[in-house]
Amino acid sequence: MSQSQQTIEPWLRGIIRCPQCKGELTDAVNVVGDAEVAELRCDACHLAYPVEGGVPVLLVDLARRTDG
Ligand SMILES: [Zn+2]
Repeated sequence: MSQSQQTIEPWLRGIIRCPQCKGELTDAVNVVGDAEVAELRCDACHLAYPVEGGVPVLLVDLARRTDG
C-alpha cells in the first residue's frame, strides 16, 4: 500500500530550513511499524521534523531526535 506517500510543495520545499540552525533539511522516511512517515532531517541538529499531510512541522519541540 502506498497511501502514506506525501509530497511537499516544491516552492515550499525550496525555502524551508531547520528552525534551529537555519541549515538545509534532508528528505527522509521514518518507518514506524508498518507505516512510513515522511520527515525532514537536520544532520547538524540530529533532529527530524515530521511532515503531516504534506505540510512540514518545523517545530523543535515536535522534532524527533536522531542521535539516540
Ligand atoms: Zn538544524
